[in-house]
Amino acid sequence: MAFGLYIHVPYCTVRCGYCDFNTYVLGSSDALATYQEALERELELATARLEAQGLLPDDGVSTIFVGGGTPSILGGEGLAQILAAVRHTMKIAPGAEVTTEANPETTSPEFFSTIRAHGFTRVSLGMQSVAPHVLRVLDRRHTPGRSLDAAREALEAGFEHVNLDLIYATPGETDDDVRRSVECALETGIDHLSAYSLIVEEGAALNRKIAHGELPRPSEEVMADRYEIVSDLAEQAGLHWYEVSNFAKPGGECLHNMGYWRSEPWWGAGPGAHSFVGKRRWMNEKLPVRYAARVSAGELPVKSDEVLSDEDRYVEEVMLRLRLAEGIRRDVVKESGQAQIDRYVDAGLLEVEGDRVHVSMEGRLHADGIAADILFID
Ligand code: SF4
Repeated sequence: MAFGLYIHVPYCTVRCGYCDFNTYVLGSSDALATYQEALERELELATARLEAQGLLPDDGVSTIFVGGGTPSILGGEGLAQILAAVRHTMKIAPGAEVTTEANPETTSPEFFSTIRAHGFTRVSLGMQSVAPHVLRVLDRRHTPGRSLDAAREALEAGFEHVNLDLIYATPGETDDDVRRSVECALETGIDHLSAYSLIVEEGAALNRKIAHGELPRPSEEVMADRYEIVSDLAEQAGLHWYEVSNFAKPGGECLHNMGYWRSEPWWGAGPGAHSFVGKRRWMNEKLPVRYAARVSAGELPVKSDEVLSDEDRYVEEVMLRLRLAEGIRRDVVKESGQAQIDRYVDAGLLEVEGDRVHVSMEGRLHADGIAADILFID
């Protein structure tokens, strides 16, 4: 059974206007040292808990994903230290996928060589766009070319698996901006591309500008057109879609994220991280100081948790699996949803392949709505 480990790094150098993640502007290097110490303590506590329950595979975790925030703020040696802590506690299974996210402006050729030498196998870089005016709206400080250079540096350092993250449908962006961003990303030789439409969370600064009419809110038609541009260019370059927003060359799929989408277990370590093990899901203390205080007192830093009912798990499974190219086994869907499946097959939004059903190209744009309909969720 695959078992994933997510590690949350809750610090960034600046706070971007659209961001709603659990991340804080780094005040001092002391904060990083406190964080690393607390994280290592949580890994010890987590290992003891999982081993006592017989839930940790004997050979260790099969995927690790260091996300944030800005993991690269720790530098190559800081990330290597985290991996060493995992090796001493949960253990890392042979052939495990080990990813870190990185912000292009906090990376260098040396950074990539260091983390590659210490066992990272995959890098995921925030790119967003090559259009300077789009990056400005998003408050991103990197120059348009920096993310592309960072991807090339990662490839040159020996990483086979490199992802660039794009955001489309930012206010003020044009079709050409999206086209150019995808083309430039693909020209670097990466094997994975993620493209999400901009979701402006309520608490984000950008939301206030849109609400006050200072920036336009892109329509659903615009979002659909932009998605098609991304998808067409990615497929032409040999990156097939395997999840609605994710494209990869064969073998380049992100196994850690596949674990989430297939409802496999994972432990989330770090402030505000979420975990899902057995039928239980929980979230850690979000504030780094509170998180550190709890773990240094020898407690798991759980802030809230819930036990998922069979119905909750069924709803999640349908919602997540219908976003995957591999789709869902039709017999997993309850009788109540079968007529809806037939209706969407007739409408060309779902396709049947053997005992599975998956969204068509047009259906991809409506995957969440189709799943909700099958589940009778308003
Ligand atoms: S760098 Fe990423 S995580 Fe940090 S504030 Fe910006 S969008 Fe959020």
